[in-house]
Amino acid sequence: MSTFGTPSGPGDPDALFGLEEIRPGPPVPRPPGPSFRTSAEARRMLEVREIHAEPAAAASPRGREILARFPDAEVIPVGSHWRIPGLHGNPGNAGNWVRTKKTVLVLGERKSLTVRPNGRSADWIAPGAANGCAMACAYCYVPRRKGYANPVTVFTNIEQIIGRLGRHVAASGPKREPNQCDPRAWVYDIGENGDCSVDALISENTADLVHAFTRWPTAKASFATKFVNPDLLLLDPRGRTRVRFSVMPPEDARLLDIRTSPVEDRIAAAGDFVEAGYEVHFNFSPVVIRPGWEEAWSGLLRRMDDVLPRTVKEQAAAEVIMLTHNRELHEVNLAWHPRAEAALWRPEIQQPKRSENGSWNVRYATGVKAGAVEAVRRLVERHTPWLPIRYAF
Ligand code: SF4
Repeated sequence: MSTFGTPSGPGDPDALFGLEEIRPGPPVPRPPGPSFRTSAEARRMLEVREIHAEPAAAASPRGREILARFPDAEVIPVGSHWRIPGLHGNPGNAGNWVRTKKTVLVLGERKSLTVRPNGRSADWIAPGAANGCAMACAYCYVPRRKGYANPVTVFTNIEQIIGRLGRHVAASGPKREPNQCDPRAWVYDIGENGDCSVDALISENTADLVHAFTRWPTAKASFATKFVNPDLLLLDPRGRTRVRFSVMPPEDARLLDIRTSPVEDRIAAAGDFVEAGYEVHFNFSPVVIRPGWEEAWSGLLRRMDDVLPRTVKEQAAAEVIMLTHNRELHEVNLAWHPRAEAALWRPEIQQPKRSENGSWNVRYATGVKAGAVEAVRRLVERHTPWLPIRYAF
């Protein structure tokens, strides 16, 4: 059964603009020593050759830091990070999907600083400090926002984003009623449309957000990730950032989670992240129904039970999200990864679903989905009884 929480929040966040701004602190100094960011593994993820930049973003302090980090990249001025001809909405790019994600970066300024209520992964969706992703999961909804490969766009006005969050945290006050998001803190998802661990290869935006939340005792940052970035272990989150490692059976991940860290590595990293001061949860997402899927999830859960240390088990929780898909993404995927579509596109067990933004997606048919959610709950009870499920849908 679903356990969605409903935030008993502070009302319309946009009404809070008149409040005094809580300014972000000084930039987080990066500790001395070798950085993962400069490693060969990091370069396999991102080898930036082309940067499309709004002029103001390029001229900003954060923009200048990023441009200095990729001195060999060609810089192409653009009017808006939203519509870059030849990059966004270009069907011809589907064949270059992975190369685009690896080699192209966009710099822009975030105009909308809205904090949206959520109630599932988090109480609130923060205005992200980036969108797009260098990884290429076949089911990912993120490319739908800008069209096709959608490489990372970094927002350089991080002070405004953190200032907005600070005002919202201050206006929210203490959380008075526990919910499934967190018993005490207001949880803000800082990575809805991308992956903060990969973003941390590019700029200090993720570090600045992690740092900011250490100063807000009533709030907690949260982001889901499929990438293990050891540089995040050098920050000092002081329990105010929740990392949700996203996992699925390795055989599914090898087909669907393109360019991500292996599932084994994500599980193995959990203990290090707890030791470094993060809260670590698990994101079982998406659950893909295919022949043998229950046995595969049993194997994954048994593996987690075997290898995760007590420190992780004592504080972990999970969220379970069944696959949703989309006809347009299906058509695009056929151009670059048709094998994945055999697992994702199953009209015989799927039905249309109107999404929050009004577009039509598909999801597993009601009875199929309810049965599968119950099956996951039973598997978790049997193999990882230490793991509460925050919500499942
Ligand atoms: S890691 Fe997340 S944001 Fe990136 S492609 Fe995969 S699902 Fe999308």
